[in-house]
Amino acid sequence: MNKRSKPTKYIFITGGVVSSLGKGLSAASLGALIEARGLTVTFIKMDPYINVDPGTMNPTQHGEVFVTDDGAETDLDLGHYERFTRKRMGRRNNFTAGQVYDSVITKERKGEYLGGTVQVIPHITNEIKDRIRALDGDAEVVIIEVGGTVGDIESLPFLEAIRQLRLEIGPQDCVSIHVTLIPFIKAAGELKTKPTQHSVAALRTLGLQADILLCRSETPVPMEQKKKIALFCNVAREHVISATDVKSIYNLPLAFHEEGLDEVVLNQLSIWAREPDLSPWNRISSVVSDPDGELRIGIVGKYVDLAESYKSLNESLTHGGIEHRHKVNLSFLDAEVLEKEGLKALEEVDAILVPGGFGKRGIEGKILAARYARENKVPYFGICLGMQVAVIEFARNVAGLKAANSTEFDEASPNPVIALLPEQRDITDKGATMRLGAYPCELVEGSNSIDAYGQSEIQERHRHRYEFNNDFRDTLTEKGLRVAGICPGRDLVEVVELPDHPWFVGCQYHPEFKSRPFKAHPLFSAFVKAAIENKKTRS
Ligand code: GLN
Repeated sequence: MNKRSKPTKYIFITGGVVSSLGKGLSAASLGALIEARGLTVTFIKMDPYINVDPGTMNPTQHGEVFVTDDGAETDLDLGHYERFTRKRMGRRNNFTAGQVYDSVITKERKGEYLGGTVQVIPHITNEIKDRIRALDGDAEVVIIEVGGTVGDIESLPFLEAIRQLRLEIGPQDCVSIHVTLIPFIKAAGELKTKPTQHSVAALRTLGLQADILLCRSETPVPMEQKKKIALFCNVAREHVISATDVKSIYNLPLAFHEEGLDEVVLNQLSIWAREPDLSPWNRISSVVSDPDGELRIGIVGKYVDLAESYKSLNESLTHGGIEHRHKVNLSFLDAEVLEKEGLKALEEVDAILVPGGFGKRGIEGKILAARYARENKVPYFGICLGMQVAVIEFARNVAGLKAANSTEFDEASPNPVIALLPEQRDITDKGATMRLGAYPCELVEGSNSIDAYGQSEIQERHRHRYEFNNDFRDTLTEKGLRVAGICPGRDLVEVVELPDHPWFVGCQYHPEFKSRPFKAHPLFSAFVKAAIENKKTRS
């Protein structure tokens, strides 16, 4: 793309009043609308925290860690961006204050600032701007989401960088959207605009004028209130967009379009584009509002209190449901509770999924869940740790491998059949390295997996340390475990299956990162199909 004749356009998204307003979903939905109008779009998520990336953060605090093809551990909003658009995210699409400071300090140590005093302005803000501008030319429109809420101390350098960028780029090529809350106060029976006025005023003191307000509220914001917000916040009336709660997140692009969001954004950016083709979103919306049936899937995990920890997983199951016109209900089952209180809860579900996880806690409960699924012929999908526990279960209870009975969890080898590779073992003191990002896998003829994918060569994303221990491969396959996928060249077992079972698949990789609402990931589609069939035979 010739940058001079066609400048990159920027959309900045900030949040006000409270967190969890769905800025990420709003950014993703706007991206979807822009793509639907025939333009290309990419995203940046700027996170104001000091961690270098969310890789080491507890999922209950931060939500899921989303893994990209290039092996970056990123914010879960990148998952929304990928699910709502055709654009694939990578390392450059997410950065944190920690990363920014890290680069600046490294440059300072190398003497790159020639003895000058290194300061937030201009050094930190320049680093932020450079990272944003690094995506120039990647797409016609770049959507930049600032994490956190306006008023946080941490986000100040990011907002200042945006202020400077707007000045450098010029008003015709950028637009600021502020996502805000219009709370309903029961006692007064009214929607209140004051918090939004304050938030927009706080932005203004930083030199940023919001151009468009995305007003989250329980009920639609009436015209009278919109006029009031426009007047007090200094924006055009048409730029006050009402964003009420929707039944499914996949209805958001349609809801925003109805409110005219894409139209005002593109006008502001001086972009002429055709009317959007929303047919794929309409199709999804019709399935969501009128499914042919329902089913229930049990997710046996550790972070069951917080659905955010398994964001991509939950969405992938929904996608599998959409593909088969079914609503998928999820039961989050705590592996430790299953271990202590028995497996009764598993009788209520049509299929069992054991997702990825780290650490010893809950492993025995997950192994019991895998056993239950194997013995009762309930469809089972094991992802990463979920595959590893299925292998341990098989080694113990089918192959009768005494060694696998060990419940001693050792960082180097959580179980003899699941272990670090020899080359990883030397570095365990410092923590072994993880296999991260996309790796090729070759599927075996006659497997459930090759049936699902419809092709033998695939690429999937990984995030784990341990591997299937090849020392036990012959023993386990002789007893009937099917190795259904191999990482070529490295001879690592990527997929295992049980042949005498309706659908029992464990994969070392994370397929949930590549599922889309319009095209469910093949394994999720096949798993949901197996669950629907199981439900039919059960009733
Ligand atoms: N803890 C396991 C490993 O490191 C599984 C990781 C995961 O499920 N993502 O291999």
